[in-house]
This record gives sequence, C-alpha cells and structure tokens, in this order.
Amino acid sequence: MKVLLLNPPGKRVYIRDYFCSKTTKSNYLFHPIDLVVLSGTLASKHAIEVLDCIAEKLAPDAARARIERFAPDAIVALVGSVSWDEDRAFLATLARPDRRVLAIGDVLQEDAERRLADEPWLAAALHDFTSDDVLRWLDGERDGLATMTVRRSERFGDGVGARAMSSDPAHMLAAHDSVVRDSIERGSGGARRGTFRVPVPRHELFPRAGYRFSFARSARFATVLTGYGCPYPCTFCVIGTLGYKTRPVEDALLEIDHVRALGIRELFVVDQTFGVSRKRALELSAGLAERGDLSWTAFTRPDTADDELLAAMKRAGCHTVILGIESADDARLALYRKGYDTAAIRAGVACARRHGLRTVGTFIVGLPEETEDSLRATLDFALELELDFLSLNMAVPRFGTPFRAEALRTGLARADELVMDQGGADAFLPTKTLDRERMLALKKELVRRFYLRPGYLWKRLASVRTAHELGAQVREGFALLARNV
Ligand code: SF4
Repeated sequence: MKVLLLNPPGKRVYIRDYFCSKTTKSNYLFHPIDLVVLSGTLASKHAIEVLDCIAEKLAPDAARARIERFAPDAIVALVGSVSWDEDRAFLATLARPDRRVLAIGDVLQEDAERRLADEPWLAAALHDFTSDDVLRWLDGERDGLATMTVRRSERFGDGVGARAMSSDPAHMLAAHDSVVRDSIERGSGGARRGTFRVPVPRHELFPRAGYRFSFARSARFATVLTGYGCPYPCTFCVIGTLGYKTRPVEDALLEIDHVRALGIRELFVVDQTFGVSRKRALELSAGLAERGDLSWTAFTRPDTADDELLAAMKRAGCHTVILGIESADDARLALYRKGYDTAAIRAGVACARRHGLRTVGTFIVGLPEETEDSLRATLDFALELELDFLSLNMAVPRFGTPFRAEALRTGLARADELVMDQGGADAFLPTKTLDRERMLALKKELVRRFYLRPGYLWKRLASVRTAHELGAQVREGFALLARNV
C-alpha cells in the first residue's frame, strides 16, 4: 500500500505534534515527532512518503498536486486545534472511496467519536503514535485497536428496511439498494507504562531544509524520541495524560546511528522529562558519549537535574537543557501539581549552569490566578535564575487535561471552542483580574524586558560557537521580538 505521512499546509507556521498545537513562538520548526515515529512503523510494511507542507511552505494547491503525484492509498495527517478549520477543509478534499484519511492531533483526543461523526472524510483517529495499531487497521482489522478511534461501516439489507434502523442521519449513508450504517468506536487505550519498541524512524524521508531549531549548533538536525509521555501529573499538561513508556536504550542508539549515517550530528531529544528514568538516561548518555560526535538539546525537570545526570549529559554532548519552571510562586506550583518548589528550581538551574549547560526556562502565564504582580514576579525570577533563554507559554485548556475540565466547569472555556493557539500568539483565557488583551500585552512586555537587556544581548553574542548559531539566533531573536511588539 502507498501511505503518505502528511503535515497539511497552513496560513501560519503551525507546530502540530505530540497532542499539542500552536503557532511558532519565534521562527522555529522541528520535525513533527508523531510522523517521525510513525515513519518507521509504516515503512516496515508499506511504501511511504512524507510531505511536510509547513516545512516546505507549500500552499494548498501545490500540496494537492504533490499528493496526487504520489497517489497514496492512505494518508496519515497531523491536525491541530490551532488550525482545525483549515485542516478539516483541506483534508476533506483528499478523501476518496479508494483513499482513506486518518489523522492524529490534540483536537481528536477529546470526544473523538463526535469528531469522526462530524467529519465524514475522517476514517480513523490515532491516539498513540508509538503503537502499531495503524498497521493492523491498514490490514483491514477493526477489532481490538486499543489506541485508535475507528469508523466501522456495516451494510444492512435493502434500503427501505435498513434506513429505518438508524435515527441518526450522520451515521447513515445510502449505498445502492442497501444502507451502510457507520458505528464509531474508541479503543480502550493502549499500554500506558513499560517499554515500547518501534522500527527505526525514516529520518531521510523528511525534507532536508525547512526545519529550524533555535538552540541547534548546526543547521541540519534530527528530532528523536526515546521516551513517550510523562509520569508526572501537572494539571495543565497533556503529556502527563498519556502515560509514560520508554524505548530500550539499544533501540534508541540504533536510531541515533542511523541519523549519524545520514551525516547528522545535532539532535533535539523531545522526551519531555529526560532523566526521569535515571538508570536508563545514564546508559543512554554513556552510549552517546561513546560515539563522541553528537551535540544535543533535551527537556528535563529542575528536580531531576542533579550533578550525576547533568555531568553524564554534558559528557554525551548535551549543550542546552529546557527546564519547566512555570511559576515563581510556590503556592501555584503546588496548585498545578508540579511536584517541586522554587528552591528545587533554583538548585536545578544552578546545577545546569555549573556544568556549562545553557538553560531555557519555560513558564506558563495567563493561568486564572495571574495578576500584574505575579507577572512581575515571573520576570524577577527569570532574571534571578540568569536563564539563557526564556520561553513563555500562554495557558490554554489543552484537550484531555484536568485544567481543561476545570476551565469548562468554571465557564472560562467552552467545549465547542476547538480553535485555539497554545503558543502564545493570542491569549485564549481571561484571568480572574486581567482580560485577554491586557494579559497578552503584559506577556509581550515581559518578553521584551527579558530579551532587550544590553548585558544579556552581549552575553548571547559572546557565547555563540558557530556561524550557523549566530545566524539562527539573530533570525530567531528578530522573529521573537516581531511577535512581541
Ligand atoms: S513534568 Fe513537564 S511534561 Fe510532565 S506533566 Fe509536568 S509539564 Fe508535562
């Protein structure tokens, strides 16, 4: 079968992956990890192609022409709440009786049965990109697909009699002299713990150009995943709702050797909490250090980032750690179940700096408790920590999270508002004291005050190691500021 992995076109630079979607905060765009992982799984049985219309800046007509040239039998497409109206309009034009369109994305995580009922072009939704259920679906299986929501069509007798069997016209399609009734079922959910194995992802099928990563030291980089989900319960985060599974170290190293064979030495490790499985992280780091030619960026938690782990990561070529700081307020960290306090954050960031790692602090702003004072405290904390980079994520009620349930319960969000940007281009929620416009204006001011310090700019320039890094940081810096004026 010919299968296309598709990142659909968009009017803006959308990042749709890992059950999250947003516009880029500056100019960065990395490989959508869902498609990277699925590329190995699908290529194990099918002829596959990858078309990333965002990376290639393809308009819908050009994208359609490329797709028709490949003439896929099935398409696995990314979708996102940030671009849902565009995605559904585009993908509907690709579905045909002999071509099935499947999709994966945040907007399908909640009430997937309703989404499939509303979108007749959508044959199935994937809820775990590390699963091989999609292979079994392509083989015609419809039972026991734990990690998918599937549409099952059943034909009943002659048209007149069967028509009377369904009262829901959305689930019934007339076909010749019989009637086809759709039933839609969501699987029970796959394994949420333990180990998962996937065939080596086919990095070579992704475009060589078009991806940009602010922290990469060279233009060409690969995005890799060695652990899926997260064992922590932070209430605003979708990743914590996915369970937590890891790949065997030898599988991850096999993939990294495949990437090295393609001439790539720079990695973005998108595990959301590198080092949580400590023994495994140390083994993986030792394997990377043995290779001796890699440089990389990873996410970790401040309370995980201690001397032993960071020293091992540094030896393995890690140069930048992205740390979830979220707030300068201990009560708020506890309320959203971060599992650490500001003392742990101070210790983790200081430890990273001691080991010569650059630090990126991510904060969530615009939670209901946000005030002008708390935003000032956020900036003060970021400055006190001497972060190398500051990343602000605007609070949004991400599908499937406890925070969303609470926002729906209190009326801050509406269940039928599907289009939302998790990247901070807009404020989605008002806070208890700030309306959306004021919140957005304050967030932009905070970004400017952090980045436009003469001492900071000088330090940034002085720390640049490669010509690529200099160009990337200047481009990213201007793009970031352009979005925050
Ligand atoms: S630790 Fe990070 S990835 Fe894990 S649930 Fe919390 S915010 Fe999400």
